[in-house]
Amino acid sequence: MNPLLNVDAALSKILADMNRLEAETVSLPDAYDRVLAEDIVSPIDLPPFDNSAMDGYAIRYEDSAVASPDSPASLSVTMDILAGSAPDRQLELGTAARIMTGAPIPQAATAVIPVEDTDDDWSKGEDSPLPSQVRLFRRLTRGENIRLAGENIRAGETIMTAGTVIGPSEIGMIAGIGSPRVDVIRQPKVAILSSGDELVDLYDELGPGKIRDTNGYTLAGLIRRAGGVPIRLPIAKDRLDSIRALYRRALEINPDLLISTAGVSVGAADLVKVVMDELGEIDFWRINMRPGKPLAYGTIQGVPFFGLPGNPVSTMVTFEVIVRPALAKIAGRAFKRRTIKAMLASEMRSDGRRTYARVTLKREGDRLIARSTGIQSSGALMSMVLADGLAVIPEEVMRVPAGDEIEVLPLRPIE
Ligand code: AMP
Ligand code: MG
Repeated sequence: MNPLLNVDAALSKILADMNRLEAETVSLPDAYDRVLAEDIVSPIDLPPFDNSAMDGYAIRYEDSAVASPDSPASLSVTMDILAGSAPDRQLELGTAARIMTGAPIPQAATAVIPVEDTDDDWSKGEDSPLPSQVRLFRRLTRGENIRLAGENIRAGETIMTAGTVIGPSEIGMIAGIGSPRVDVIRQPKVAILSSGDELVDLYDELGPGKIRDTNGYTLAGLIRRAGGVPIRLPIAKDRLDSIRALYRRALEINPDLLISTAGVSVGAADLVKVVMDELGEIDFWRINMRPGKPLAYGTIQGVPFFGLPGNPVSTMVTFEVIVRPALAKIAGRAFKRRTIKAMLASEMRSDGRRTYARVTLKREGDRLIARSTGIQSSGALMSMVLADGLAVIPEEVMRVPAGDEIEVLPLRPIE
């Protein structure tokens, strides 16, 4: 008799088998949402040179020492420094350089006075004529409005560590230090195989007794969201030769993970176990959870294999609970299960397995209320469309009364 494993025991067994994939080099624009394989060390200071934080005039700050609105200091304007230019001489005492935001500070200048604090009028923007004199209406402190070289990042500093997911700010930062390529962890290739004589694909006719394959699509979405690359195979028939042939085909893709759905329970047509025994090794095939008791796990030619239950909700819930953490580990993505507490609106029952019930979540006052999505059938995919989370009823608990606090695994952000 195969053991009925607890969810946590099954998961730790599976996680121990999973290995992070190797690194690959991609060009920076392709690095978005990928996982850094190595720490990134900046080769340069950022900003690379002292520059102005304002449009105004660079001066030697002591030239403003006695300036005030009633008695402005007057300086002669000797330079005009636009962003992207490089000043070729130092700033002398008693003079000022018109300067734009981001333009390099000329040598010996120690502050920038914003144009609003001078008598200059820039109504014509950068086309405004360069005045010969400028009057300053206030005194400046040393370093005012100067962004110093390296104040953001120093050359040699580690700016991101391995495992970081590259988001918009990270990709911008990597561009900022001038790296055209990045080492990231390869994305797991996941082969998906639906099986069942009743299944037809999108463009096939829905004959009598037939339903459309939905698991192939939900899984593809779940895999993408987890940072993997889904590869969908044709639908297998409930025949040994068909299942066998499609598994072989799946292996030709060289997947990092193989997921099939249906055919793992104890029905007469549940042939996945037979084929797995033939081509690979089954580790276990039943887990103490609901939905999802029949869940086969093992390897086929060294490739980790998950045989998920066929009911559309069971497929999604077992993926969320068991496969997603495994995939995250292969993909090098940090995974932390976060649950939230909510108050149960009406009684829920279970059969003693760990149960994941589909609930909506709504804030009412300072409380979060969990309500059943209504139908809890593991065949009703609509319950997942409606669900904000999965309420977890622990093992051996048969009933949770209304008003009790319950742990919920959120499926989307809660307002
Ligand atoms: P099985 O695991 O083969 O006993 O299937 C359990 C239930 O899930 C049956 O009602 C199947 O019709 C349904 N089912 C199996 N595979 C899929 C699929 N890929 N898409 C939608 N429903 C499915
Ligand atoms: Mg079936």
